Amino acid sequence: ALTAYAVATVAEAQADSVRELRRQATTDSLTGLPNRRAVLERIDELIAVPGSATLVMLDIVGFQHINDSLGHIVGDQLLHTAGERLAQAAGPERLVSRISSDEFVVLGADLSETDSWEFADRMRACLTPPIALADRLLTIDADCGVAVATTDSEIRKLLANADIALMAARRSVGPTVCVFSSEIARQHTRESQARTLIHQALDHDRVRIHMQPVFHTATGALDGAEVLMRLDDAEGRCHLPAEFIDVAEASGLIVPLGRIVLRQSLEWVVAHGNLWHGRRLAVNVSVRELADPQYVSNLVSALHDLRIPTGTLVLEVTERTILDLGSRAVHTLDQLRAAGVRIALDDFGTGYSSISALRGLPIDITKIDQSFVSGLPTQADDVAIVAAVHNLARDLGLTTVAEGVETPEQSAMLAELGVTHLQGFLLGRPCPPEEFVTRHLATPTG
Ligand code: C2E
Ligand code: CA
Ligand code: CA
Repeated sequence: ALTAYAVATVAEAQADSVRELRRQATTDSLTGLPNRRAVLERIDELIAVPGSATLVMLDIVGFQHINDSLGHIVGDQLLHTAGERLAQAAGPERLVSRISSDEFVVLGADLSETDSWEFADRMRACLTPPIALADRLLTIDADCGVAVATTDSEIRKLLANADIALMAARRSVGPTVCVFSSEIARQHTRESQARTLIHQALDHDRVRIHMQPVFHTATGALDGAEVLMRLDDAEGRCHLPAEFIDVAEASGLIVPLGRIVLRQSLEWVVAHGNLWHGRRLAVNVSVRELADPQYVSNLVSALHDLRIPTGTLVLEVTERTILDLGSRAVHTLDQLRAAGVRIALDDFGTGYSSISALRGLPIDITKIDQSFVSGLPTQADDVAIVAAVHNLARDLGLTTVAEGVETPEQSAMLAELGVTHLQGFLLGRPCPPEEFVTRHLATPTG
């Protein structure tokens, strides 16, 4: 009997230690909450039973900063408190887990699509009361991604879909709750495709330029060209900026892309200097590029090394770019102009600070946005805006280029208003540089 008893205790002890090992394997030691593995196991259980499931993923805003500035001990305590609050607010029916450094998950087998946003917002709000730590009151908040699943295949994708929603939430300003939807999924797919397109174009030398002519209104003579970026894919299809420029800006990939565009543009000028005669070549530049402290000096030495005539290169910047550059804007533009680069204010009139932006800004050219040109000659307010912008620019000693001129009527109206330069499909579409030469330079078509 004694032996039987001993065997039973040993078996129990073994079972206990197996349970303990399992518990450790599925527990986050910092918060004592279930970990990612526990979430995956619960998802597997949910797949086996009918019904819906909701997963909220929360990412504490600025946690890295708190951790870096106040130290790991404070950071750890903060995470501990966040975990406690979430567990309290979520209730015993739901699984609360810390799945990575500052990401938490709340998983439940209930909630309809309509309740899920409110539930997630409640989870977010429970984090916000001030926390007393390290002799101070800290306030935290979170971005939330939510996914609701009603079928097994959706439940399998719960974590991935909540993660996609969380990425969308992170992109908006301020702490946000974002519920996964087919629209968010499409947006995510578009962005990943754009990222792939950009990376492959950079890796395989498939960044190219197209050129669109700009003409003098009065004489019809060629004044110069605007350079527009194109990316080729593996099948040789040409992709327009609308597909990739936002992702390029947001990711910073616009910097290597812009460098290639600028280099190709300057090399083109060098190769065609005899036909170009110092006409203007305009290149679009983004805030990410201009914000680089090396940008101006690199450009200046490139212009010098390649002996590009002064006044040839125009950089097109948007009002948004100038706003984002903030206090550095005027200094940067001044330096560029000192190096013989002209500055064009692109998409003029579409920003917020149009008129005041013009005053005191070191610019040479305003480009009247296509959205105003397209209303000519019938839309009275567009006529008034174009006339006002042109008069203002002229009084400030600036040149104006009207963009997106598509019809002879628009062209005639712009001429009547005195706008000095025209650009648009009516006069010439963007095309590869070789085609640009044959169309606009080889034969003097005017
Ligand atoms: P943007 O600077 O305003 O460039 C003018 C855009 O209007 C070009 O589109 C051009 O093809 C198009 N366009 C010209 N004439 C007409 C017309 O008559 N009708 C219509 N409907 N469209 C016309 P694209 O090439 O697709 O470029 C779009 C935008 O992408 C550009 O707008 C610019 O903001 C950006 N972008 C293009 N290349 C670069 C680049 O190298 N660097 C940076 N940072 N941005 C670029
Ligand atoms: Ca432009
Ligand atoms: Ca423009």
